[in-house]
Amino acid sequence: MSWLPTLIKACYFLAALLFILGLKRMSSPRTARGGIVWAGVGMLLAVLATFALPGMHNRGLILAAVVIGVSAAWWTGRRVAMTAMPQMVALYNGMGGGAAAAIGAAELFGHVQVLRQVVMPDTSPLRPESWATDGLHPIGTVLPLTSLTPLELGLGVLGALIGSVSFSGSLIAFAKLQGWLDKRFVFPGQRLVNLLVLLAAVVCGVMLVGGHLTMPLIVAFFVLALLFGLMMTLPIGGADMPVVISLYNAFTGLAVAFEGFVLGNEAMIIAGMVVGAAGTLLTQLMAKAMNRSIGNVLFGSFGAVAGGAAQTIEGAQKPIEASDAAVMMAYAERVVIVPGYGMAVAQAQHKVWEFAKLLISRGVKVKFAIHPVAGRMPGHMNVLLAEAGVPYDLIADMDDINPEFPNTDVALVIGANDVVNPVAKTDPASPIYGMPILDVSLAKNVIVIKRGRGTGFAGIENALFYADNTRMLYGDGQAAAGELVTQLKSVDG
Ligand code: NDP
Repeated sequence: MSWLPTLIKACYFLAALLFILGLKRMSSPRTARGGIVWAGVGMLLAVLATFALPGMHNRGLILAAVVIGVSAAWWTGRRVAMTAMPQMVALYNGMGGGAAAAIGAAELFGHVQVLRQVVMPDTSPLRPESWATDGLHPIGTVLPLTSLTPLELGLGVLGALIGSVSFSGSLIAFAKLQGWLDKRFVFPGQRLVNLLVLLAAVVCGVMLVGGHLTMPLIVAFFVLALLFGLMMTLPIGGADMPVVISLYNAFTGLAVAFEGFVLGNEAMIIAGMVVGAAGTLLTQLMAKAMNRSIGNVLFGSFGAVAGGAAQTIEGAQKPIEASDAAVMMAYAERVVIVPGYGMAVAQAQHKVWEFAKLLISRGVKVKFAIHPVAGRMPGHMNVLLAEAGVPYDLIADMDDINPEFPNTDVALVIGANDVVNPVAKTDPASPIYGMPILDVSLAKNVIVIKRGRGTGFAGIENALFYADNTRMLYGDGQAAAGELVTQLKSVDG
């Protein structure tokens, strides 16, 4: 079947095309769902083509692994709560890194087997027949690696290193987000220790590439690489984890691409590079939207950027009843709804959309404003609003909506805090100083739904809640939105 390799290559090419087109479609909420399906079909095609590779062994075992993996992913994917999505992504990402590292391990251990065969007696059944008589392979000779070029071996070892770090680091990120590990593990000299662990792993890797392929060295290399992933992630605060996960996602992509190079598998190379590039861009975007550097996320702690004492906020929070809030919005011309993490916690999106629809039916112009890092993962609010059925043309990005706030009669903030905190612009001592925010405070009136005086992710007071034009509607997001719906229905049309 001489046409089979060509067919497989064609399938890989098509899969790569589907990955790229799928990713392109994910850039807009309108087409994102389809984009995921396209990329999924690409992955299915690549997996099926790989099964047909000539010389593929253990198809039964691979199939069993696929069935186990797919079942676990299907079951957890259907059950996971939206608020638990970040840790789910961490876990899946870790599996990708682990798989790349496992390929590297299989390659390295495989070569140790080859070397063992070389030093075996002539009578060994494992000794390749072609070597028995060629005179080129006397027993006891340590041969240079024949099947991998030094470049391939180097990339394989690098992929194994990055994949191992991504694997163990992602597992720690998962444990932190799941609440199983809630402490930042910090000790004096930690960075130096981490650096030494990384250096030791790199030295082992260089020795492996140099041909010292012994079992203890390979084991030491993987133990050190996994340890570095653990130690690098342990000191990072749980709330920074989404950025870290995005970074590890980029690592996983790179590791897969390197291992794809070693295996000569084009689909892996392209998919890995796409994931690596997308993960890097997403990490940068998140860090920028939080006004943090990647270094600060990895090696600093949140708030460490600020210096001096934070400004004190004057005034008092002024409460409002749902009935008054409903009347205010019923007679408004423009209302902008600003969702945040609290809306996700309360799962209030359906009630909020019901309320918005009632306003729209009264002729009020309603828009939803989304900050790039509202919630706890990129696109968190977009996903929730899409789930509730909010049309995409009612959803505006920060840069588009900010100029509209001065003409907005009521800004309804539900469960958002840091992303609407004006101190990001006014207080250089604040940990969020410099972070771009939604200019909600410029609206004529602001109504904030939250349960009490709880702070947001940054753990700081919010000047917006004390502003003259702000009224606080205390309560759980879903209950408060439900109350607004009830009250609005009783307002005369
Ligand atoms: P915040 O975390 O700043 O604030 C959430 C607010 O929601 C709290 O003040 C809380 O107040 C309120 N809340 C919690 N539960 C409920 C509930 N059931 N009903 C009503 N309100 C509730 O959220 P934002 O979305 O404004 O900001 C996101 C923050 O997360 C930013 O600082 C961002 O940098 C950070 N971050 C975002 C990431 C992302 O990718 N999106 C990644 C990592 C960090 P109360 O307790 O009084 O109810």
